[in-house]
Amino acid sequence: MNQAVVAVRRAHSYDESETRSAVAAVLADIGGLPAIVRPRAKVFVKVNHLSPPSPPERGIITHPSFTAAVLTFLKEITPHITVGDDLHPSTPDGFEVSGHRTVCDRLGVRLVNLRETGFVRVPWNGAVLKEIYLAREVVEADVIVNLPKLKTHSLTLFTGAVKNLYGTIPGGLRVAFHGQYKNPPEFNQVLVDIFAAARPHLTIMDGIVAMEGTGPANGALRDLGVVLASKDAVAVDAVASRIIGLEPLAVGTTRYATGLGLGVSSSDEIQVVGVPIASVAVPRFKLPPIQAGEIVGRAPRFLARWVTRQLTIQPRVVARQCVGCAACAQICPTGAATVVRGRARITRQTCIRCMCCHEVCRFRAIALRRSVLGQVVRPFLRAGRRARRRRVSA
Ligand code: SF4
Ligand code: SF4
Repeated sequence: MNQAVVAVRRAHSYDESETRSAVAAVLADIGGLPAIVRPRAKVFVKVNHLSPPSPPERGIITHPSFTAAVLTFLKEITPHITVGDDLHPSTPDGFEVSGHRTVCDRLGVRLVNLRETGFVRVPWNGAVLKEIYLAREVVEADVIVNLPKLKTHSLTLFTGAVKNLYGTIPGGLRVAFHGQYKNPPEFNQVLVDIFAAARPHLTIMDGIVAMEGTGPANGALRDLGVVLASKDAVAVDAVASRIIGLEPLAVGTTRYATGLGLGVSSSDEIQVVGVPIASVAVPRFKLPPIQAGEIVGRAPRFLARWVTRQLTIQPRVVARQCVGCAACAQICPTGAATVVRGRARITRQTCIRCMCCHEVCRFRAIALRRSVLGQVVRPFLRAGRRARRRRVSA
């Protein structure tokens, strides 16, 4: 029996009218916005940003045209809309660079950096977290609208609807959690705990230009030309995974969220409306070299840490590209990344492979290197992935 409806529509560019038509269509397909947002409701719209600030053409953030299209429809129902994310203070300001400030100013919508409006302690009986510091804007909203970007992620394999809510906790805690919950299964559980606490009422995913390879910041752009929407964020991730040829349950956040009943992911439980998955599915979408997560998820717990260390990719400094800006050292939760004589250096023994340095380096000076054992097992893992992809497309 279908428990979730996921709308999928085509949009080939961020041209304003094309994006708006696609967003209008997915909203109509899932029953219309008024069925989710009552008049004058207080709505929080979570966009997907990443430090350092990046312009929309880099494909790292929710495109501002996409956000503008969603805001246009929300404004027909309520004037109480806030757009936000937790951004590292920087000059120029991240919202300025992303284009979100221009869009919000034009539409007369409030835009906030979540660290400026503060966080509220929420007792939580999660799989890992027993309390969560959640953005005040999220806690006080009647409706949460989630606008993730469809991307790969070098630590979690995929980042979409569930992981986008990680940005609703303080930035310092996000970095600390990387250090505290080092192995991918545990970290994925943390992501799902936060998702459960900030559970969105509506998710509309920007998959018009996606990111493949070594996402979420340094991958390659891939024109997917899709917009997805559902009241079930887990189902959105599951359908997005199928579009890129990835088995939904290979994504840790989808697996844990499904297990906790926070959404559905199997094709029997999801009704896809709009256009069929087969018509938008793409071949050979490049996944990040993060095979450890795939294995660790199946390994006994006592082996998980060892397997993770042996197989995860490692960050490596590309000296000729490093300008010594120290962004990597500032974000590194363990002090493994430092800057010595104007060049970054990574101490392998204390590196927990959280990939924060890779994510934050805007000069592509942190490359990802596979361990020797990782290189040996790579052909087997690739064969496994190919087999799973065949099952997905069957
Ligand atoms: S590796 Fe990147 S983030 Fe680190 S100092 Fe060099 S340029 Fe800056
Ligand atoms: S060096 Fe990079 S990958 Fe290693 S712990 Fe520091 S931020 Fe994480």
